[in-house]
Amino acid sequence: MTATPAWPPASLPRLFIDSPLSDGQVLTIDGGQAHYLTGVMRLKAGDRIMLFDDRSGEWLSQIESVAKRSLAVRLTHHIRPREAVPDLWLLAAPIKKGRIDWVAEKASELGVARWQPVITQRTIVDRLNLDRLRAHMIEAAEQCERTALPVLDEPVKLTALLRDWPADRALIFADEEGGVPMIDAIAPGPAAILIGPEGGFTPDERAMIRGIAQAVGVSLGPRILRADTAMAAAVTLWMAKAGDWR
Ligand code: SAH
Repeated sequence: MTATPAWPPASLPRLFIDSPLSDGQVLTIDGGQAHYLTGVMRLKAGDRIMLFDDRSGEWLSQIESVAKRSLAVRLTHHIRPREAVPDLWLLAAPIKKGRIDWVAEKASELGVARWQPVITQRTIVDRLNLDRLRAHMIEAAEQCERTALPVLDEPVKLTALLRDWPADRALIFADEEGGVPMIDAIAPGPAAILIGPEGGFTPDERAMIRGIAQAVGVSLGPRILRADTAMAAAVTLWMAKAGDWR
């Protein structure tokens, strides 16, 4: 008996295309993506790849021709529509380079809908390279099979963020000085997780955050976690209890 090929084909190279994709379309891929497909993956005409556009979902595609610095790709099958992303925002303060790149990658993989960097009193990073962070988020989305990219916003000050806090969104405040066990504070519905920078929150900030009606101060256990670890732990708990991990 001949084996039935798996459908849709598994583990094909997968790329984000920043323009709307549609059935039968032939598009040109160039730059770093072309180098990746032909130089790194050594793909040739006839080979298949997956494309997604953060709009229409995911498309099985076939390479039509390869030129020196570009290739032509035809979209052949619509595989999946764009997914519904669990309504979780990450409000993590910027931390130093290397660690913040890791936050960008893991936030995308773990499934957050949006990362809103928050500037707190003890935030020591003054310039954020959003393009670099976005590139890490896209790369993670490509490899983890997301069909919707997380949104990455311009940094805002904590005071401004809290002033306009939406009435219907829970604010889960990871407080290194303690709170209710986080698992007990998670309820269904829109939520955001607030994580401080390396130096943590000031007493003023702590009081201001806890003054918001939608806020709940939570503990991630008796050990002080690094900000990047705290982010992964908190997002994991939320995804398991209120997100799409079941
Ligand atoms: N320098 C601070 C720690 C900051 S840790 C101190 O020594 O107290 C960075 C951030 O991670 C914190 O602001 C908090 O949001 C989160 N965090 C780390 N450990 C935590 C814990 N055990 N419970 C809740 N939040 C924690």
